[in-house]
Amino acid sequence: MKDCLFCKIASKELSSKIEYEDNDLVAFKDIHPKAPVHILIVPKKHISSVADLNDADEILMGKMIMVAKKIAEEKGIAKNGYKLIFNVRSHGGQIIDHIHLHLLGGEPIGKIIV
Ligand code: 5GP
Ligand code: ZN
Repeated sequence: MKDCLFCKIASKELSSKIEYEDNDLVAFKDIHPKAPVHILIVPKKHISSVADLNDADEILMGKMIMVAKKIAEEKGIAKNGYKLIFNVRSHGGQIIDHIHLHLLGGEPIGKIIV
């Protein structure tokens, strides 16, 4: 989608610190990390938010969680645990209108709000 920051990151038009990539998803470091590990898992296809998902996106969403799990294992934070967050639209605190899953860990996260 034109003028979408995360579409531009996913297509490499803008640079980011990419941690994982496959045909459907890209994962990159959050530019303002709120924890030692703070990675965003993002579909390459533009979807605005969880509230905008269709039934056809069910497998893609499952993949997003499985990729978060895999990255957490690779980063060595799985044993102690981590937090996965979707902010949804304005009351959910969503700033970037391209769906993304926050993976936060590497220290006790507690009630952090991203
Ligand atoms: P939201 O509040 O929409 O759930 O989260 C958006 C996240 O994107 C924020 O944590 C913010 O730090 C991150 N972010 C915003 N702009 C950029 C950028 O240009 N590059 C990267 N890597 N992260 C960004
Ligand atoms: Zn987008």
